[in-house]
Amino acid sequence: MIPVYVFDTKPYDREPLQRASAGMEIEWRFLECRLSAETVSAARGAHTVCTFVNDRLDRPCLEALAALGVKHIALRCAGFNSVDLPAAKELGLAVTRVPAYSPYAVAEHAIALLLALNRKIPRANNRVHDLNFSINGLVGIDLHGKTAGIYGTGKIGRVTAQILRGFGMRVLAFDVFPSVEWAQHYGVEYTDAQTLIREAAVLSLHTPLTPETHHLIRRETLELMQPGAFLINVSRGALIDSSALIDALKSGRLGGVGLDVYEEEEGVFFEDFSGQILQDDVLARLLTFPNVLITAHQAFLTQEALAEIARVTATNIHARGHGQPFLAETALH
Ligand code: NAD
Repeated sequence: MIPVYVFDTKPYDREPLQRASAGMEIEWRFLECRLSAETVSAARGAHTVCTFVNDRLDRPCLEALAALGVKHIALRCAGFNSVDLPAAKELGLAVTRVPAYSPYAVAEHAIALLLALNRKIPRANNRVHDLNFSINGLVGIDLHGKTAGIYGTGKIGRVTAQILRGFGMRVLAFDVFPSVEWAQHYGVEYTDAQTLIREAAVLSLHTPLTPETHHLIRRETLELMQPGAFLINVSRGALIDSSALIDALKSGRLGGVGLDVYEEEEGVFFEDFSGQILQDDVLARLLTFPNVLITAHQAFLTQEALAEIARVTATNIHARGHGQPFLAETALH
């Protein structure tokens, strides 16, 4: 049996992993704590550690994992900014991820945030449940005919662009590696980053978090945005400078902001703090704006995506345990 310790386990993780590993001789040990240098001793006895977006695999954590005899880190997510990859390589720790489980899940959530914001669905729903059937203050805009800007046209950005084209929007895109044929096929126009930000009535961010994209949306970029524009981020929180965003929201210039990620989400998102005092003043301020919609990193959360994450993760763990190669494009070094 291959002992696999699953950190930051939630109820929805267990069943798909168990089902995907049927007949694979994997012994899952589900832990609720997140993996970090402080909690790493919990990995004693593991061959593989299976982690998610808010585990922190920095050098001290990786050194401790290597010392414990761990051989493989199986990320059950696409983003890998949580791992110090050069350190993992140096220490001989294999690292795999799930590069594409369902771009549809994430793109559809971005659209859900946009539509709910624009048509003020949470407010409207609260009202009718209070038997207030007034529609005053619920005016939205037609998306048809407006311009959307897709920042990053990888798997998720492309699906988002395609859906917005279906609404009859003009779609502009920016990427350091443009997908020219795809853009021609779907009638998407590539442009430079500044033009994209300046012209978009809806700006949706779909790049990974890297040193280049950190605070991609900051004071200067927010000033370029159109009055009344919608900003959607389902990628990584630190693409946006939250303090600058609060100032832009206070000025009333933005139409709405939909966030599935937040730069200080670690330790807050995925947990139940109801009945407690929120300690994060920036998040608390964001939650006061009527035109800000926040979900707690759930864009990936569909049955199809969970099943695919589990299939790729279990297959790679089985492969590593039996000296076989990983699935194509899942190994990070
Ligand atoms: P991808 O690798 O297919 O696409 C990323 C695109 O960004 C690529 O085309 C790349 O060229 C482009 N890019 C990289 N650096 C750039 C830069 N500096 N400027 C412009 N473009 C740049 O990734 P994906 O599958 O589309 O996922 C995108 C991101 O979404 C992931 O990195 C992850 O952080 C996030 N994500 C979030 C969730 C969620 O549940 N909220 C789920 C999955 C992924």
